[in-house]
Amino acid sequence: MEQMTGTCLFCGQTRLVEAEDQNEANRIASENCTCDNNLKRVRQCSDNIEKICGETAKEFGMDIVTEEVIDSLKDTGKLCVFDYLQSATFRLTDSTISIKQTKDGVSVSRKKVSAVKLEA
Ligand SMILES: [Zn+2]
Repeated sequence: MEQMTGTCLFCGQTRLVEAEDQNEANRIASENCTCDNNLKRVRQCSDNIEKICGETAKEFGMDIVTEEVIDSLKDTGKLCVFDYLQSATFRLTDSTISIKQTKDGVSVSRKKVSAVKLEA
């Protein structure tokens, strides 16, 4: 990792980033650019998935989701950003996670499933 100048692939703005090579520097610059672009949306969607499924899930009263599922959720988010999918719902044992296209991007929501059934 070294400090490099990355160029946003969409608007050409440059910024200093930590990267291994020029391609990575450009990607990171694009993901963090002030302009509105799909790489940035993918990054924001992945960050949101990480927030509600990773270590910080506990803050929302949710359990941490396994890394494999988080990866699938991120891939699904990417498909929504690039307009291959409108929405997708994942049913986990404790909750339901929905990824949906919105007017300005992609939203991620997670609902806890709790049910009770009493029989006599
Ligand atoms: Zn840009």
